[in-house]
Amino acid sequence: MRMPDIDAFVNEEAQRLISELEGWCAIPSISGDPDYATALADSARYAVGLMRAAGLEAEVLHGEGSDPAAFGTWSGAGPGAPTVTIYGHHDVQPPGPLSAWTTPPFEPSVRDGYLYARGVADDKGLVHQQLAAVRHLLSAEGRLPVNVRFLVEGEEELLSPHLEPLLAEHAERLACDLVLVADTGMLAADVPTITTSVRGSLAVAIELRSAAGDLHAGAYGGTVPNAGRALAEMIGRLYDRDGTVAIDGFYDEVREPSAEERRLIAELPFQEAEFSRAIGVRALPGERGYSPLERVGLRPACEVNAIHAGYDGPGMSASIPSTARATISLKLVPDQDPDRVYDQLQGWLQDNVPEGCSVMMRTLTRAWPFQTPVKHPGNVALSRAIERVWGRAPLYVFEGAAGPQHSLSRVLGADCVHFGTCLPDDNYHAPDERLLLANYFRGVRAAAHFLGELGEMPRDALGSARA
Ligand SMILES: [Zn+2]
Repeated sequence: MRMPDIDAFVNEEAQRLISELEGWCAIPSISGDPDYATALADSARYAVGLMRAAGLEAEVLHGEGSDPAAFGTWSGAGPGAPTVTIYGHHDVQPPGPLSAWTTPPFEPSVRDGYLYARGVADDKGLVHQQLAAVRHLLSAEGRLPVNVRFLVEGEEELLSPHLEPLLAEHAERLACDLVLVADTGMLAADVPTITTSVRGSLAVAIELRSAAGDLHAGAYGGTVPNAGRALAEMIGRLYDRDGTVAIDGFYDEVREPSAEERRLIAELPFQEAEFSRAIGVRALPGERGYSPLERVGLRPACEVNAIHAGYDGPGMSASIPSTARATISLKLVPDQDPDRVYDQLQGWLQDNVPEGCSVMMRTLTRAWPFQTPVKHPGNVALSRAIERVWGRAPLYVFEGAAGPQHSLSRVLGADCVHFGTCLPDDNYHAPDERLLLANYFRGVRAAAHFLGELGEMPRDALGSARA
């Protein structure tokens, strides 16, 4: 189909788009806190309103035990055309201390070309970007180049605990040839990037016990096991000297980075010194033989997120702690499976538990790694759309953080590609979250071109990419 003038639309409708997005961001849709259940419901309804205004059929979905999601659909391109499901989320992170915000988190405010609000970059602005493109195409042409579904869930910030059953329940209506995850960023406003893989994660809580209760350090010191020291010793043994993880079998399923992947990573503009300075670290230790970006994107890792033993209240307690706790998260890459890694870690803990101690472990969260081939037709369509808007071809990014891609892909039987215009300094998950409006508008234009590019592809080109 002929592509209507998206640039003119963006210019004419800019103010209306911003106001709409502000209205959505004013709703404090914080997931995981019962006090905000009403706000989450309001936010889902707001998203449904945006979908209807765009010309979609839309409704709120209530999955078993899950926070409300917004679902929209348009099937006018017919069964021969590809169908794309656009995924995003409308829940947001808690705002943290209000004093750290220049303007209140749920009172959206435009300053210096940015829209500031909790959730504007992660992820309401990026979903709105897609909806704006669809609305424009439908109002200008009365049709879209492809069939479209939107699924905007309400629990992503909790790692999507009920997404799989929700997807399974509505699998028929969400069935598609390709999933677009509209929840990623770019390296810089003028360095467009496509995320093409995410790492998985297995987070566990570990509790070590060494005695029935805390013991007097003078009366027993030097003769009983100390839970704090025992746990510290164990954690110390998790790593080998070359920076690898010492758990038996941990690397068995790890796919070695290909020469092509290493080449793509080497193309990314990355200054080690600047990167270190920006986050306030003096060294970048890690697995030998891989660059920092390779380690973040293509190699697994083991991180200690929390460690605690003994008394740390006012004054002091000269006692020997009898329990110690740690939270550990393992970052996983294809083809590692969090369930298998759990068994490996469990075995390792039993083999390494210090004399006289016992150790227990439970899963906190798990997510599978996910990778889309760089040359996937969905990435090709995205790349063309981005080049039309930015005037340069995008680079490819291998991301360190987990998402729901594996569930989306497995239940819906389609591959995932990623698009979003959030930037590294947009402060998502932090105070003063913001979205650079110029980049948001570029994203609206690219989203429209992406649908146009997909419409040029035969439907089975997307399906066959899964082979
Ligand atoms: Zn997000």
